[in-house]
Amino acid sequence: MPELPEVETVRRSLERLVTGQSIVAVQVREARLRRPLANDFAATLTGRVIRQISRRGKYLHFSLDDGHVWLVHLGMTGRLVAGAPAALLPHDHVLIALSNGLCLRYNDTRRFGLMMVGTETSLALLTGLGVEPLGRAFSVRYLWTRAQATQRAVKDLLIDQRVVAGIGNIYVCELLFRAGVRPERIAMTLDQPAVKQIVKATKMVLREAICHRGSSIADYLDGEGNPGSYQKRFCVYGRAGESCPQCATPIRREMRGGRSSFFCPNCQQ
Ligand SMILES: [Zn+2]
Repeated sequence: MPELPEVETVRRSLERLVTGQSIVAVQVREARLRRPLANDFAATLTGRVIRQISRRGKYLHFSLDDGHVWLVHLGMTGRLVAGAPAALLPHDHVLIALSNGLCLRYNDTRRFGLMMVGTETSLALLTGLGVEPLGRAFSVRYLWTRAQATQRAVKDLLIDQRVVAGIGNIYVCELLFRAGVRPERIAMTLDQPAVKQIVKATKMVLREAICHRGSSIADYLDGEGNPGSYQKRFCVYGRAGESCPQCATPIRREMRGGRSSFFCPNCQQ
């Protein structure tokens, strides 16, 4: 959390508020995020103009007028919200004043988020991200090749950011339910129709979630401080013991490696 739909929603909500604005001042109140912010972080950003805001996997990319990119990852509980300057809240770690008078504030209770400034190439090497799930590169052929080459569970393959970028525990549970595939199924045992179902379900679930402005479970808010609503449409995630929407079998929850998988033991094979 947040995953691709939430990060894309933040991007869309911030786009019209920050594009074309210059960064007037940067205040770092807490530099100890997942990695400490660079000592020159504030100096590097101050005076730059934000040309564009794009997304790659779960990362936000702010393209700056000097050719650099300011990269933001929201980690587990990060929020990047633009609004009128207001009283500080607990866990407001970075405040960025923009030329239009708005303040972009980064709030992160658990501090697993990340911020860096660098060139597009240096940041791409650092993040090592796989293909975008909503792009053409995430095809049946691509996933089939990756699935055939691994003994891992299909769930682990799909949440590996080096394979496909942007999917986490929530959406992998939802998309595997739609595809009728169990999370623990070994990827190389999938046949081509199953891989096709997974690719189709991935794109469908992510697009639907973006339409509903992401899922707000604990902390997530968009760039204007509004929650998403896709959590109301979950078929399996967080619904252990409830009836499967397709067959009424109770949804099962299994824990492995600190993560819960939710699935229908009848519909998913
Ligand atoms: Zn079912």
